[in-house]
Amino acid sequence: MIIKKNNCKEEFCIIGGGLVGTLLSIYLAERGIRSEIFEKRPDIRMTDLGEGRSIVMSLSHRGWHALNAVGLKRKIEKISVPKFARMVHHSDGTINTQQYGRKNHALYSVNRRTINSILLNRTEETGLVKIYFDSECSELDLENRKVVFINPKTNRKYLKNYDKIIGADGIFSKVRGAITSAYGSNNGLTMHDYVYKEFTIPPGKDGRYILHENHIHIWPRESCLLVGMPNYNKTFTCTLFYSDKEFQAENIYYGNNLQNFLKSSFPDVVSIIPDFACQFLEKKTSSMFSVKSPAWVYRDNAAIIGDAAHAIVPFYGMGMNIGFEDCTVFNSLIDDFNYDWNKIFSEFFNSRKPETDAIDDLSLENLQHLKHSVNKDFQTRWELERKIWKMYPNYWMPTYVMVAFSSMPFRRIKEISEEQNKVLNQLLINKKIRENLNQKRFFYILAKYMSSYIINIRKIQRYIPKAGKIRNNIFFRFLSFRSGFLNIFI
Ligand SMILES: Cc1cc2nc3c(=O)[nH]c(=O)nc-3n(C[C@H](O)[C@H](O)[C@H](O)COP(=O)(O)OP(=O)(O)OC[C@H]3O[C@@H](n4cnc5c(N)ncnc54)[C@H](O)[C@@H]3O)c2cc1C
Repeated sequence: MIIKKNNCKEEFCIIGGGLVGTLLSIYLAERGIRSEIFEKRPDIRMTDLGEGRSIVMSLSHRGWHALNAVGLKRKIEKISVPKFARMVHHSDGTINTQQYGRKNHALYSVNRRTINSILLNRTEETGLVKIYFDSECSELDLENRKVVFINPKTNRKYLKNYDKIIGADGIFSKVRGAITSAYGSNNGLTMHDYVYKEFTIPPGKDGRYILHENHIHIWPRESCLLVGMPNYNKTFTCTLFYSDKEFQAENIYYGNNLQNFLKSSFPDVVSIIPDFACQFLEKKTSSMFSVKSPAWVYRDNAAIIGDAAHAIVPFYGMGMNIGFEDCTVFNSLIDDFNYDWNKIFSEFFNSRKPETDAIDDLSLENLQHLKHSVNKDFQTRWELERKIWKMYPNYWMPTYVMVAFSSMPFRRIKEISEEQNKVLNQLLINKKIRENLNQKRFFYILAKYMSSYIINIRKIQRYIPKAGKIRNNIFFRFLSFRSGFLNIFI
């Protein structure tokens, strides 16, 4: 580890030794800044506690970028499974595949406990971070910079004075509670109607994956959504998202209804997990929350990061990735403001909050897409987006690709996505658009809508990576000329 020289005398007190708290401490240590992590749970590397929420997670570009900066990418890559496409299992038994991006674009399955353990190990290796397990932050006095911890096993309490405190303590953050109440604001926590349960699909008899590996499997249904992700150990973790209220209203828990419901909704899954209904009853039901905290920082004294500040629904699989990106942003602000913590903290909030609000909106929108991935229009939309991407690589990129495979600011993605949706909606009015996709006619139809799109996105186009080829496509130039636009731009 190469330590950057600085005059920083401060020590950081980080609440929460989860994914984001540990990564932040590594970034700080690389600058020679000492920190102490206080984690309420025992050391997950030593215990055999239940996995907790979401056993398997998807790592994408932003997460990799943050891990790469501290030299952890290769190590984690080795224990991850790439997923290049989404495989949609329709209720009539048909299956279709939707490739996420280009051939080399993949999301990567990683086990939560494994990645957290790797981060804890690296944190300790820095020699500048001390981790205290079984230490739950129970009270925080921001004015006097004092924090109280309690050991949940012994109930013993102890008090600590701190320099700077960072709350990486997740959805129910104590630090967020203290910061927001100091400003008299609400604490930004929302509980969603959806709940979820996790199931494991074992490997086949031959020890191999029983479903197609390198895919995220989804079973979108009217009242629920089942998502299956491959694990490194050849199992799949399936998460069933549903509305408990709706299930109760439809009497799904009554008598044999549950069994019948699962059999008719997911016959292929029931054939692999014959005791699916029993497991459903035994498995813990977890609620789903999101956080949009109105305040993230208190002077140069306290800040929150990761889920503590901005938990989002997991329908883009981005929560951890954005938490990791927070660390990259925080780290670069230290350089930008040369260890002026007042400025670093306030700029962290000012620049990051609109970004995390935007991905929150995009994630909720993606839930609608996932639910509608059953219908043909969605499939056509998916194909259209990718077709236009091929034709206009300098101006167009599917929303999913911008979110998962680029570092584009989320606010820009939202703006571009809104403009792209206008074009797609106009194209989809034409019911025969899918049949025309591979015909020359499509160029003309598209050209009609693209002129105003390109004018609208010109101001934000610099965020779309250059791809080039289209400039040399003589046929396209000819068509552009015929349709009387674009020559100015191409
Ligand atoms: C079903 C589901 C699936 C998901 N899938 C993905 C995915 O595929 N990809 C992705 O990027 N994200 C995913 N996420 C989101 C991801 O889990 C979170 O964004 C991520 O865990 C946030 O990390 P964190 O360190 O901020 O918080 P956490 O992981 O919650 O860690 C907080 C830590 O603080 C500790 N703590 C809490 N309170 C205290 C206290 N008072 N004192 C001391 N310690 C405390 C906790 O024990 C914990 O260790 C998913 C979430 C869910 C619910």
